[in-house]
Amino acid sequence: MAKEKVIILGAGIAGSQAALELAEDYDVHIFTKSALLASNSALAQGGIAAAVHPDDEPLSHYRDTLIAGHFENNRKAVRLLVEEAPHIIEELRQAGFLFDCTPNGKLLFGLEGAHSAPRILHAGGDQTGLLLTRFLHDRFPASVKLHTYEMASSILLDQDGHAAGIRTFTTKDGHCHFYHCDHLIIATGGAGQLFGNTSNDASITGDGIAMAIQVGAAIRDLSAIQFHPTLYFANGRAVGLVSEAVRGQGAVLVDQSGRALMAGEHPLADLAPRDIVSKVLFRAQNAGCSIFLDLSKVTDFEAKFPHITAMLDENQEPFRQTKKIPVQPGAHFLMGGIATNLSGQTSVPDLYAIGEAASTGVHGSNRLASNSLLEAFVFSKRAADQIKRTTISHKKMAIIPKKDCLSGGVSLPERTLLQEKVRQALGIERSEESLEHLLSFLKAYSFPSCQVVDSDTLERRNMCILAARMAENALTQLRQTEIEMRS
Ligand SMILES: Cc1cc2nc3c(=O)[nH]c(=O)nc-3n(C[C@H](O)[C@H](O)[C@H](O)COP(=O)(O)OP(=O)(O)OC[C@H]3O[C@@H](n4cnc5c(N)ncnc54)[C@H](O)[C@@H]3O)c2cc1C
Repeated sequence: MAKEKVIILGAGIAGSQAALELAEDYDVHIFTKSALLASNSALAQGGIAAAVHPDDEPLSHYRDTLIAGHFENNRKAVRLLVEEAPHIIEELRQAGFLFDCTPNGKLLFGLEGAHSAPRILHAGGDQTGLLLTRFLHDRFPASVKLHTYEMASSILLDQDGHAAGIRTFTTKDGHCHFYHCDHLIIATGGAGQLFGNTSNDASITGDGIAMAIQVGAAIRDLSAIQFHPTLYFANGRAVGLVSEAVRGQGAVLVDQSGRALMAGEHPLADLAPRDIVSKVLFRAQNAGCSIFLDLSKVTDFEAKFPHITAMLDENQEPFRQTKKIPVQPGAHFLMGGIATNLSGQTSVPDLYAIGEAASTGVHGSNRLASNSLLEAFVFSKRAADQIKRTTISHKKMAIIPKKDCLSGGVSLPERTLLQEKVRQALGIERSEESLEHLLSFLKAYSFPSCQVVDSDTLERRNMCILAARMAENALTQLRQTEIEMRS
């Protein structure tokens, strides 16, 4: 009997782990819109959080996750996350993944913002994401079919409204393709590229979430965006991230006169939760300050952070002389996304979402550092388990729309203009006025659901769809808060 077919959109850690879980029993196809390694997963620096140190315990990890998330987290999801974490680490080590250790073989633990103990496992210093992603890719059996540079553009449903396939196009020549499947998993990551200044990979434009919106999937907390305090800026633009682990090693946020910006702002000072640090820096910037990470107290910076060192060298940043890195806050992580239960199921039957594209509610309103790689592992495994428990009783037939591959009828803003409007409305501080302004700006354009076959146009369309939904969600929240404050 032919195996059931699973399509996975995305080969970051979430998509890749799901593929490994399903490879033996299913016909697995993975799609990526660009190179196999182009993802946020491969950029992750700090590492993966897990209470595996003898003096640590999942309960403490649980507490830290809730405190960072302002207790708005789904507690069941958090419990699963922290309890599964030590098993994930053990499995990875058993499978041969090498986390950084002391010369006598003891695991090394990093410290990051809002963690009450050093519990971040890392690899290659600051190259955890790259090494983990490669490690998963290297374990794909030959039966897993990889479709790289093939961008998914929409989800196909069958007569009963079940997910039943996708349409894609090859990014090099715009050729359109249709694929049927029994189960569809969205693992396309977040939406950082909606903002010009972001830590995210260029491929992360919220495509999977936009596709899910178009088939009516429930969406949760879409305006919950995390801004990372320390993006490295060169020539006026964000070039990459300087991990919180650098502050965990003693770096301090200062202004141009050397004043410590976090002193007196929070009991954890530079290691306060990300949203708090970002707000302080944002206000300092608005008051005319330039912001730097002072490295004077960090020993062996280059050995501990080889990836960050390479990024600084590529941009000829004289950090060895100045002992400082110029930084600013920027868009980093999406807490909201496609609403799922704890097994990755969305409101559309046979459609799953995992990783940053999904919203289980695990992060609350502010993700705890290094919980995201962990989330990708934990919930991709659970989605795979759910697929294994699901029986597809009949042969599904995806409905292929009659009008395909039309590229006309779309009018969209320029990418940089859109990003600037999004930054003004959905940045660290928001107002009803700026959100309404974004919504009326978007109304001047039309982004219908006809098929688009070039990646730039499709990305801008997806970004517009998301920007509108984010602005609506943020407006609702602002108004609710106002009502609560008045009553
Ligand atoms: C610079 C940086 C550092 C970070 N550091 C850490 C850290 O230390 N610890 C931590 O826990 N988290 C960290 N994060 C967050 C974490 O890396 C991500 O949240 C996580 O890796 C997301 O994994 P994912 O598998 O869901 O998506 P991603 O890894 O982003 O993968 C998305 C995949 O979807 C594909 N895709 C997108 N759109 C389409 C489409 N239309 N068609 C086909 N394919 C598509 C992409 O090609 C890619 O393969 C960091 C993030 C960044 C940006």
